[in-house]
Amino acid sequence: MPRPIAATIHMGALRHNLQRMREAAHGRTLWAVVKANAYGHGLLRAARAFEEADGLALIDLCDAQKVREYGWKKRILLLEGFFDETDIPLLEKFDIETIVHNRHMIELLKTNAPYKSLKVHIKINSGMNRLGFLPKEEEHIRKELCAIDGVEIMGVVTHFANAEPSYDQGKPATVSLQLQRMAQMGDKPSQLCMANSAATLWQKDVQGEAVRAGVALYGASPDANYTSEDLDIQPAMTLSANVLAIQNVPAGEAIGYGSRFVTKRDSRIAVVACGYADGYPRSTPDGTPTYVEGKIAPIAGAISMDMLTIDVTDIPEAQLGSEVELWGAHIPVNEVAKRCGTIGYELMCAIALRVPLVEDEQ
Ligand SMILES: *Cc1c(COP(=O)(O)O)cnc(C)c1O
Repeated sequence: MPRPIAATIHMGALRHNLQRMREAAHGRTLWAVVKANAYGHGLLRAARAFEEADGLALIDLCDAQKVREYGWKKRILLLEGFFDETDIPLLEKFDIETIVHNRHMIELLKTNAPYKSLKVHIKINSGMNRLGFLPKEEEHIRKELCAIDGVEIMGVVTHFANAEPSYDQGKPATVSLQLQRMAQMGDKPSQLCMANSAATLWQKDVQGEAVRAGVALYGASPDANYTSEDLDIQPAMTLSANVLAIQNVPAGEAIGYGSRFVTKRDSRIAVVACGYADGYPRSTPDGTPTYVEGKIAPIAGAISMDMLTIDVTDIPEAQLGSEVELWGAHIPVNEVAKRCGTIGYELMCAIALRVPLVEDEQ
């Protein structure tokens, strides 16, 4: 029997969330972001669940090819662009759109011209300071790209550093500052695509013709101060594993490596078949909730590579073989993430290869 751990992927939830983001996008083109193996949910599975999206946006050209070969007929966009000259013919062959974010890429496009049709998006750096040209350069870049035989400009993209409503507006790189910078572009560009999930959900001032939704499609709120229910989205991943041992431990005993947790009373400790080698963070502190037999059981003791321990003293129903939800419908992934000092995104995409993804229709 395989080890009793699984990440269950809820197809109904993925479809529901897509519908929800469709509504939030108010008729704009909806790119479903499926980078990082669809935030850990499985690339081709996500492509299937998101068949109503207008396009898929991802990072890796190999993944883009996979999705094409699988039968995805609509648009595909590379969010970081191409990395090498040898990528360029593949973009045309598989009809994959790319962003262009630096001069080097323009030079490569020039050297390899002409094209039948090579679709590019101009990436603007409006304050994130990661990728892209400055707004005032846009006009020039556009002319330069237009002059390359066969290059088709599909639009202009930028990305927000802080589109969550909880972001402190006194700090740098607010949405309004980034919008002001975008307004420095000479002509208002056609086919503007700016919004991620957070901006699509909360930033009514962010306009444009298209949005790129990622995390919300997987049912996690982009802002940890809002729950999935607040946004009417459904968690699409449940990480669960079974109890493989129960220890009755007297008061004053330490549990696991480093003896971080010491029992204050006679305790029942359940050992669960999930560890940091499965993607459950080693940094998880004691007290982080898990869900077993309809009740909350706190993490008790450091997370091991293949196991973790929870306190089930108050949950006599928890027995050998009981299923434990580490995150999912009852334990928001953002809750676990917050306790570990990270975000739900990181936990979802860090699900390890050895954890089987099991598909569920709901
Ligand atoms: C990942 C990513 C997105 C999606 O962001 P979410 O916060 O997951 O909605 C959108 N645009 C770009 C450029 C990205 O890299």
